[in-house]
Amino acid sequence: MTHRTRQERDSAVVVGAGPNGLAAAVTLARSGLRVTVFEAADEIGGGVRSGELSVPGVLFDHCSSTHVMGAGSPYLRTLDLAAYGLQWCRAEIDLAHPVDSGGAGALYRSVARTADGLGPDGPAWQRLFGPLAADAEVLTEAVMRPLLRVPRHPLRLARFGLHAVQPATLVARRFRTEEGRGLFGGVAAHLFGPLTQPFGAAIALMIIAAGHRFGWPVAKGGSAAIARALAALLRAEGGRIETGTKIRSLDQLPPAGTVLLDLAPAGAAAVLGDRLPPRIRRAYTRYRHGPGAFKLDLAVEGGVPWRAEACRRAGTVHLGGSFEQIAHAEREVWHGRMPDRPFLLVSQQHLADPGRSAGDIHPVSAYAHVPHGYRGDATAAMLAQFQRFAPGTRERIVAATATSTAALERDNANFIGGDIIGGANTPLRLTMRPRIALDPYRTGIPGVFLCSAATPPGAGAHGMSGHNAARSALRALGRQ
Ligand SMILES: Cc1cc2nc3c(=O)[nH]c(=O)nc-3n(C[C@H](O)[C@H](O)[C@H](O)COP(=O)(O)OP(=O)(O)OC[C@H]3O[C@@H](n4cnc5c(N)ncnc54)[C@H](O)[C@@H]3O)c2cc1C
Repeated sequence: MTHRTRQERDSAVVVGAGPNGLAAAVTLARSGLRVTVFEAADEIGGGVRSGELSVPGVLFDHCSSTHVMGAGSPYLRTLDLAAYGLQWCRAEIDLAHPVDSGGAGALYRSVARTADGLGPDGPAWQRLFGPLAADAEVLTEAVMRPLLRVPRHPLRLARFGLHAVQPATLVARRFRTEEGRGLFGGVAAHLFGPLTQPFGAAIALMIIAAGHRFGWPVAKGGSAAIARALAALLRAEGGRIETGTKIRSLDQLPPAGTVLLDLAPAGAAAVLGDRLPPRIRRAYTRYRHGPGAFKLDLAVEGGVPWRAEACRRAGTVHLGGSFEQIAHAEREVWHGRMPDRPFLLVSQQHLADPGRSAGDIHPVSAYAHVPHGYRGDATAAMLAQFQRFAPGTRERIVAATATSTAALERDNANFIGGDIIGGANTPLRLTMRPRIALDPYRTGIPGVFLCSAATPPGAGAHGMSGHNAARSALRALGRQ
């Protein structure tokens, strides 16, 4: 480092233009570094890309669709992304969870309205989520920054922590109705792991609290608008982006004092080669990935004919039935077995952003939780879940596009085995990823940092891993 020219010291390279790579690049550029981003694909965005798939004029999000943590991101909220075209749109109901009796739990931004709709479970929902939603900004700020800092609001965090250390199964005991338990269970399944796991409730509590504060919005015109806005801001700060350039080794990069990798740990190990200290190399190459996702994008004439009215007005619908059925499906997937009735997340973005439809043909994106690297075709099992809660869906499908775990990984090297959450959410990895370290963004090579969703705070199109990693890099340069 001592032999570097000043120009090299003031230059930074980011590999990968996902939301974390772009957020990292913006943070570095705003601190005065000359930043170049290299992206393997022909377009930027990684997990936030959109486009037509089947029917002209029907716009699908290829990966991420619903952005509760994007809208609530402590970093993205500080950027004027609206000036670069990012507009959040919200459906009337954020989330619905249908049950076999024909009813559904419904999540609104208002805790009171949500509680009202949950009947006998209303008071319990209000007691648990009222205070957490009121503290949502403090919570997102604390939970999405690197751990191991002294929190600014320890008491308010303690209330969250008390519940967050519990398994989701324990927290679910507060609710008695199928609708209330299902609504909570569907969000708990975002863990992509066993609902009996300690710390397993943390993600559900965080997303529900943030949802009550920020909603579950989609980006107007498609999730790609998030990447476009970050890229435009980066360019306004003097940064550059080169697409269609897969980085295989550090030697490919122009001289730069700072390198940030928006890569899965195995991808970072491949790029860094023998330069990586053996201990860290082992941690990266043995890093455990989570279960996979199997995606099904449907163009549906007239929309999905849901039995439960709330589902017809909800931007997101969780399909899995009762809490117990979801817990069973998630346990099977975790242990590498494909359940008959997988858990599905369904996005009806057009309800918030009608411009995504072509006439009466609407985009309906769903993905199922499947075992890591699942080689089968989940289409039939997924359609059966639709038929269960919306008989007649099949007859309305104009076009269907299936994306397997292998295809997800081919499309984006970070989605190893179809893992879309940047690594298995074990109790340890929920807090420390990809390895136990005071500064998990450091790779052990001076000037080189990891900034993908495999670093805290983990998955989601919120840019916080990138921003946190960039701050670590700036500290190393003595600029923070
Ligand atoms: C089907 C699906 C649904 C999802 N739903 C949601 C959701 O609703 N809400 C939400 O918040 N999140 C969701 N996610 C997760 C979210 O997309 C990811 O957590 C997020 O994109 C991670 O961002 P990242 O920047 O770390 O990595 P990525 O977005 O994966 O970006 C990494 C980038 O690096 C590039 N790259 C990889 N290797 C190289 C290389 N060697 N050289 C150069 N470039 C390289 C890739 O092409 C990619 O563009 C979903 C993901 C998927 C796949």
